[in-house]
Order: sequence, then structure tokens, then C-alpha cells
Amino acid sequence: MLTKLGKTDLSIYPLGFGGIPIQRISFEKAKTVILKAKELGINFIDTAQGYSDSEEKIGFAINEDKNYWVLASKSPARDSKEMEKAVTNCLKHFRRDFIDLYQLHLISSIDELQLVLGKNGAMETLLKYKEKGYIKYIGITGHKPQVLKEALDIFPFDTVQAPYNPLETQSEELLKYASLKGVGTIIMKPFAGGALTSPSGCIKYILSKDFVDVVIPGMERVEQVEENFRASLDLKITEEEKMGILQDIHQLKNNFCRRCDYCQPCPQGIKISTVFILHGYLSRYGLKDWATSRYQSLPIPANKCTNCGVCERKCPYELPIRQMLQKSHNDFQK
Ligand code: SF4
Ligand code: SF4
Repeated sequence: MLTKLGKTDLSIYPLGFGGIPIQRISFEKAKTVILKAKELGINFIDTAQGYSDSEEKIGFAINEDKNYWVLASKSPARDSKEMEKAVTNCLKHFRRDFIDLYQLHLISSIDELQLVLGKNGAMETLLKYKEKGYIKYIGITGHKPQVLKEALDIFPFDTVQAPYNPLETQSEELLKYASLKGVGTIIMKPFAGGALTSPSGCIKYILSKDFVDVVIPGMERVEQVEENFRASLDLKITEEEKMGILQDIHQLKNNFCRRCDYCQPCPQGIKISTVFILHGYLSRYGLKDWATSRYQSLPIPANKCTNCGVCERKCPYELPIRQMLQKSHNDFQK
């Protein structure tokens, strides 16, 4: 059954299609997987400028019935010129003359948001393009619930996208707040970046929350689409799924980064949670080249850690950050 995305006029199936993993399959395979999703009734796809050729593969896959789809993308552009490039390319990649939802990708502070909203900021482009009909709605994404919650009071975003799953529930207050305001809620990282091993249990857990509009697991195989879709049909969590989730939570309790950034700032300038996110893409998603090139473009690599221990004293999950950084760095060198 379709549902509305917040107060927008977009009607979507609550299980959406996350566009990260199709980066590592061919155009033809991506088309097969996306068309399977369509056959089942899935109609929302979310991707990003930064997911290499994902936008292009989506455009290729949907070409024969492009207006069936509700398409979303996002960009880390913070100024108007960069945003112009991002949206123009996205329209070209999608092969459509409009994008249903365009989002600010990973806003991590209010200062960053103010930059976007200020003179020559990226929002100037989004508003101009919305007026011209190239974009229907504007959303915001990020990993910091407090920042996103504040952002919803600063600008009338149509949607908010944040991580949420049985292990990472820190966005719950934000999502409830957004839902009450009529802001569409989009759930990324439903399996904690591949760390949770019961996809069906996670989908059921997430979709049973009334403050969730749509969950967007990344998919690259037909069987994955079918399994996730089956889970969306009956939200009753089985004993086996429950045990799987509980075991994962127990195992990951002290070695999984929840991206809260309480450990920041690092005196050396290491973006600790970003290193761990990229390491997750390397170790659990198998996106070696993409994750490695992103890691290499970080201004400060993890091996610049001086072992001062400041971050570990601030991490509420008592993670062995220094050890995890060292391992991440070593894995990126292999
Ligand atoms: S231990 Fe390393 S990562 Fe942590 S604050 Fe110190 S230098 Fe930064
Ligand atoms: S290392 Fe700890 S404090 Fe830092 S982002 Fe991850 S969970 Fe939060």
C-alpha cells in the first residue's frame, strides 16, 4: 500500500530502493534489480551525486517508464554554483526533466547549514530550480539528529533522512518530531551499514514505527529485493529475527561507531566517524575502490593519531577508537 511522504504529494511504497550498492554491478544488472523492485510495487529510489555512476544506472534502468518512479538524490554542494552542477548532472543522469526530491547531503552542523542558506549558498539554486519545476521538494540528510532537528526549525524542509535501526536508535526523537511537523521521514542505514545480520528483522522493526515514512536499504540483487519486500508485507518479527537482532546488538555494543561525533574534535583533526563509515563500506559493502579513494581524499588519515586518548574518554559507547582507527588505516592500505 502506498503512503504519503510527509506533507508532500508524493505517494510511495514504504520500502524504497537505496542506490549505493548498484555502483558495483553493471548497468544491465542494475536494470534487472530495479525492474524487479518495480514489479513488486516499489517506486521510490534514493541515490546521491557521490555514489559514482549510481544516478546514471538508475536513469538507464527506469528509462522505459520513467514517470512511474519517485526519484531522490542529494549533493554535498554547499554553494550555489556547485549545486547547479550537481542538479543539472542529476537531471541528465536520470534522463528526466524533474527530480522529485533533492536533498542536502550530510549536513553536520548548523554553521554548515547557515552556509547553505546564506548568500550564494546551495539553497539559492535549489529554490530557483524548484520554482522552475526541476525539483519538486527539498530535503536534508545527516547523521547528527540534534543538528537535523534544529535544521527543521530553521528551514521548512520537506523531508529529513537519518540513520535508524535496532542498534542505532538515536534519531528516534528527531524522527518523531519531524513526523509531527509533517516532514517526510526517510530511513537510511537500516542494517547499520551491513553490521546487522537480519535484514528482514530490521525492515520490520523500522516499518512498524509510525514516525517512519520510508526505509531505503541498498540493494543489488533480485533476491535481496524480494526478501526485503516480503518483510515489508508482514511486520510481525519472528523469534529467529528477534534473536538475530539481539545477538548482533550484544556483539556490536562495544565496537560499532554510531556516528554521534561526541568524540570530536580530535586535536589532530581526524574525522573519526567518517573513517569508520568508509571502513564499513570497505569491509561490509565490498566497495573497495570507492571507499579507498574517499579515504585517501580525507585531509588527515587515521594513522596521524597520536594516541592521546581524548576521543575515547568522550565516546559514550566506550569504543576502542585508537585500535579501530589503526585497523581501518591498515585495511585501507591492503
Ligand atoms: S586518540 Fe587519536 S583519534 Fe583520538 S583524539 Fe587523540 S589523536 Fe585524535
Ligand atoms: S567513535 Fe564513539 S563518540 Fe565517536 S562517533 Fe563513533 S560512537 Fe560516537
